Amino acid sequence: MSDCLFCKIVQGTIPAKKVHDDELCIGFHDINPQAPAHVLFVPKRHIATSNDLIPEDRELVGHLTLVAAKYARAQGLADGGYRLVVNCNRDAGQTVFHLHVHLLAGRQLKWPPG
Ligand code: AMP
Ligand code: ZN
Repeated sequence: MSDCLFCKIVQGTIPAKKVHDDELCIGFHDINPQAPAHVLFVPKRHIATSNDLIPEDRELVGHLTLVAAKYARAQGLADGGYRLVVNCNRDAGQTVFHLHVHLLAGRQLKWPPG
């Protein structure tokens, strides 16, 4: 998608602090972190929201979760804990319409999030 911010980060035309890169997804630091650790895991293929997932994306969605969990372990965040978040559309406050998983960690996170 030519007009999508995260597609541009995937393509490397907009810079990001990348922490992960494989055939299906990348991970990079959020530009406006909401916790000491705030990383986004983004599929390389453009998918606007979780409403647009199809059954064939099952492996991709599982992959995003596994990659995020592996990153949390490698960073020493797993035992303290972390939150994985996917915002979808207006009521969840989605602002970038390219599917992404937030990994938030490094402080006590409030629940419910409000
Ligand atoms: P969401 O509200 O779930 O759509 O989250 C979008 C996230 O993307 C926000 O946490 C933003 O801070 C983050 N973001 C926006 N632009 C960039 C960028 N250029 N590099 C890294 N993160 C970004
Ligand atoms: Zn995109």
